[in-house]
Amino acid sequence: MPAPSIHYTVKAINPNAHLWQVDLLIQHPNPNGQVLKLPTWIPGSYMIRDFAKNIVTVTAQSASGSSVPVKKQNKSTWICSICNEPLKIQYTVYAWDLSVRSAHLDQTHGYFNGTSLFLEVVDQANQPCLITLEKPEGDTYQNWRVATTLKEHQTPRFEFGDYLADNYDDLIDHPVEMGDLTLASFEACGVPHDVVLSGRHDADMERLCRDLKTICEYHIQFFGEPAPVSRYLFMTLVVGEGYGGLEHRSSTSLVCSRDDLPHKNDGDKITDGYKTYLGLCSHEYFHTWNVKRIKPARFFPYELQEESHTQLLWVFEGFTSYFDDLSLFSSGLISAEEYLGLLGKTISMVLQGSGRLKQSVAESSFDTWTKFYKQDENALNAIVSYYTKGSLVALALDLKIRIESAFTKDLSYVMRYLWANYGLKQRGVEENEMPTIITASTGVDLDDFLFNLVYGTEDPPLAELFETFGVHYGLRAASSSTDLGGKKGEDPALPYFGIRHKNSALGLEITVVKENSPAQQAGLSSGDQLIALDHLKVDSSSFDKRLLKYESGKQITATYFRRDELMSTQVTLASPPENICYLEISDQEKLKKWLTSGQ
Ligand code: ZN
Repeated sequence: MPAPSIHYTVKAINPNAHLWQVDLLIQHPNPNGQVLKLPTWIPGSYMIRDFAKNIVTVTAQSASGSSVPVKKQNKSTWICSICNEPLKIQYTVYAWDLSVRSAHLDQTHGYFNGTSLFLEVVDQANQPCLITLEKPEGDTYQNWRVATTLKEHQTPRFEFGDYLADNYDDLIDHPVEMGDLTLASFEACGVPHDVVLSGRHDADMERLCRDLKTICEYHIQFFGEPAPVSRYLFMTLVVGEGYGGLEHRSSTSLVCSRDDLPHKNDGDKITDGYKTYLGLCSHEYFHTWNVKRIKPARFFPYELQEESHTQLLWVFEGFTSYFDDLSLFSSGLISAEEYLGLLGKTISMVLQGSGRLKQSVAESSFDTWTKFYKQDENALNAIVSYYTKGSLVALALDLKIRIESAFTKDLSYVMRYLWANYGLKQRGVEENEMPTIITASTGVDLDDFLFNLVYGTEDPPLAELFETFGVHYGLRAASSSTDLGGKKGEDPALPYFGIRHKNSALGLEITVVKENSPAQQAGLSSGDQLIALDHLKVDSSSFDKRLLKYESGKQITATYFRRDELMSTQVTLASPPENICYLEISDQEKLKKWLTSGQ
């Protein structure tokens, strides 16, 4: 193979200043002036992030050493003056975003997505590229290694050196982590999987690999062998408090809280935190099929300079969110009771927001760019999540398909049909194609049922559906401000005030005021600093205890600061709404029509 004509060299030139330097050599620049551009968003995270804002300097010169002027064309695009020989671009990128969506660099580790670091050579996006990752200089970085699923080019795995990408699309879909990494490996259905942790931790790697192997094998067999990848990499940045993940074609970047990882002292127990982490891994791994290969037609190809609207994220995130936790049960990692506990929490989360009565999951998908990804204090009252509500749409569909097909089919048939006819064939799912796909894959006509779930704002008829499967759908009032649901609970209900809050220097800061709540009726707003209830000091941690002393219907005085003005109002506490869900098994035999472990 001839050397690729596009060559990126990435250097962590100044970790203390969080600066990457990229040298880009273009053998055959456009003779009319080479245009370079950077994506404005990263696939999987649907918000315009304008990564180009972090490019600090850009210079260019010809191979023979003369300077080539570079001019900005718009926020994400540059044009180099005419250069009739190989062109060398050098630029620096500021990287201080500790998330899975852009780039980060300091003396403890380096991380980047190609969407933050690699300028696209316009008109040459189909060309293969060579990427050289240079080890930073100095003793501090002696033990640094590299984790990425970019193809090694005469470079040993996990080492600095040369890597290859087939084209620009490939180049930006293999994030890179470097640092003093913890490495472990396992095989799932014959495919090598690597697990890389970065950051301080004391995780039981053996346990982690064992459980991830269970999940990965389950998903591979769910869609059918062979796996769509020849290797896979789980990259996790471990921090004190954090949660997040982003899917890629053969890897995932995750951020997790240290305490969520398994510890040697845990025994066989799966803590709630570890369940959360495994659920996240399961979610991102499921994306290897659903959204990385089975995609909305709108994403063929990705339009990365501006918003790319689709109404289908309820399929790609919602279905994935349904199967992520369900597969923890199906693969035998958690019990049916534990699974129903997780599901009860998800249902409770959806029921908390009155926004679900105004926005459908199709609308939520379409408007994710400006609404779901730009949530403000009113989000709970105005929008619905295509993740959580989308997972309930998937659940309702799964149960309905089982009933209508006399228990011969279920939602997994839809997924495998999508995989065979769309994912494997690289054909996109059209915006209104799901009803046809469901009928084709299950033989069941659910057009009207689906239409209401996806374009309507009524709650899915879960209580009714669950009856057939021996599950009791229970609702109760919240017993605290942090009541997540999932359990029946014996604690007394908290009189309804109707806010979300956090601690602040003055006492309690209101972060959300629920629509039509006593707090809203009393004129309280997000940002208000509540300092006293009935003339006694209150803060975020004592708020529930104080409320529990009152009966619903009681009028209390709330004293607060709005900006720097001291204000006071009367709040009439109400009966709490019953919007916390718990699920109980009422008939084990019927349950088997839905939940069968070791499927
Ligand atoms: Zn996702």
